[in-house]
Amino acid sequence: MNEIDQIRKGSAEDRRKQRFINKSVAVSVKYLRKIDELPHKPDALEPFMNILRRVFIDMQGAVKPDGMPTVGTYCVMVPQELIYAAGAMPVKLCGGSYTAFNIGDDIAPRDACPLVKAVMGFQSIGVMPVYQECSLMAVPVTCDCKKKLAGYLSERRPTVTLHVPSGRDRDADMEQYVRELYLFSRRLTEVTGVELSYERLSRACGMTAAAQYELSRFIELRRRAPLVIKGTHYMAVMNAMSYTHIALWTRYMKALNDELEEKIRRGEMASKENRPRILITGSPIVFPNFKLPLLIEEMGGVLVGDETCMGERGAYDPPAIVDQSVDGVMRALANKSTRPCTCPTFVDNKRRVYRIMQMLKDYQVQGVIYHVLRGCLVYDYEYQVLEEELGKLKIPVIRVESDYNEEDVEQLRIRVEAFIELIKYGKESSR
Ligand code: SF4
Ligand code: SF4
Repeated sequence: MNEIDQIRKGSAEDRRKQRFINKSVAVSVKYLRKIDELPHKPDALEPFMNILRRVFIDMQGAVKPDGMPTVGTYCVMVPQELIYAAGAMPVKLCGGSYTAFNIGDDIAPRDACPLVKAVMGFQSIGVMPVYQECSLMAVPVTCDCKKKLAGYLSERRPTVTLHVPSGRDRDADMEQYVRELYLFSRRLTEVTGVELSYERLSRACGMTAAAQYELSRFIELRRRAPLVIKGTHYMAVMNAMSYTHIALWTRYMKALNDELEEKIRRGEMASKENRPRILITGSPIVFPNFKLPLLIEEMGGVLVGDETCMGERGAYDPPAIVDQSVDGVMRALANKSTRPCTCPTFVDNKRRVYRIMQMLKDYQVQGVIYHVLRGCLVYDYEYQVLEEELGKLKIPVIRVESDYNEEDVEQLRIRVEAFIELIKYGKESSR
């Protein structure tokens, strides 16, 4: 190939990257605008919106202290405390981009899930700083798509694969995950040069505990009927957590909670009392793929809760440290990352059903929308179990399958609208 050909090749590649940036920014602008335009937006939501703007529109990296390395994670089962203790910051990189999905669609087989295709697309195009700047990728093997993603990334980037046990009741399962965490910690030390110590682990646990405290305050406020904050706004807050240092996110969260408490005192609620209260569960909902939460709220529903791993599942209880040593904390982290997790990738999913039943009561849910990303078998399998349980309680549920594009928006709109009408009709006829 002569020099001119090389220049042409280079410029074609540059043009491809530019096209990607233009399209990807346009989609993000559109969805951020829709979130912005929803009524009753609290002022304290702005910092979270700015984080999403920074990452997806300004195309800048994660929000973190200067010089701090980042570690890309692909599941809530990677304990963030371990990464903070090693002097790095975790960045949750599950992809929600339609533009990156289109690139990944040519890389992965047709039936792979869009979330993993989007990650592959981001890796292949190589223009998103938040992905590019990561010093290490941590991929837990939870489903087949994640397994193949780990293989794909490890050929291109420093990658560590975490073998998550498929069960969690036997001691051997936990022992296995503790060993994985030690191996992961060694890789982290290679990247940051920081040796693991009890003091560092305990400081990191303190930081995440502070975030969990603010989140629990928020969950308490969110249980109010009528609702004090729109569900879509809440999902933006939780998505922004993926790209922000936990200490800063906690500060923003405290300001939001303070504002919401003030709104409750003044009686400024974000929804009318009689609107259908809906819970969303199923495959992850990652920005900018916010079409479903937006549709629910645009069609007159109230999104009261989300049982997804981009929601409160990512910040469950703090680790219960019994033994104050490095090993004690490692065991506590292995436990808290897997035992309470409601992801259906485990063999036994009773906890998932139990948790959803609990949320139905806590949030006074009147209908459940079960979101399945095309190709996400683990969530699809669980639908039937949940449908039976909800049937016993006479709570309506629909399964909604979607992909990473906007072609199905109108069809989804019709189904969501009909579902909301059904709940309204049910309420009226039971009066
Ligand atoms: S859906 Fe399950 S496996 Fe996938 S990122 Fe969420 S918790 Fe992890
Ligand atoms: S759990 Fe579902 S959405 Fe997540 S990577 Fe696996 S197939 Fe994709």
